Amino acid sequence: MPCYRCGTRQVDPDRGESPWRRGVRGDRQVLICPDCQVAADWTTELDRCQACGSIHLVRRLGEVECRDCGTVGQPAEASVSDGRSTDQAASDLADEVERALAKVLGPSRQRPPYAMS
Ligand SMILES: [Zn+2]
Ligand SMILES: [Zn+2]
Repeated sequence: MPCYRCGTRQVDPDRGESPWRRGVRGDRQVLICPDCQVAADWTTELDRCQACGSIHLVRRLGEVECRDCGTVGQPAEASVSDGRSTDQAASDLADEVERALAKVLGPSRQRPPYAMS
């Protein structure tokens, strides 16, 4: 797998740990070469653990595991450019839940008499 930024192919060192770093970006496992690690602020481009914010993520079948805290799940994507739509979706969902609750509980439960003292 080549470096996701410059396309350089990974070369394994004769000994020791590879200087290449792994990460997850846009829900995909990526590699980044030593040159790009120095040249670019690459850590801001990678997905992060939603629990601890680490970029040490490993992509597995349909899941991402954090190597720092062990959380398994979907990471927070770094490339969310339109944060508002996410907030909007969340508030729409909250409204929907509220309406559903009102339907189940009935209007009388919404303003209980004992709350009007
Ligand atoms: Zn590179
Ligand atoms: Zn974590």
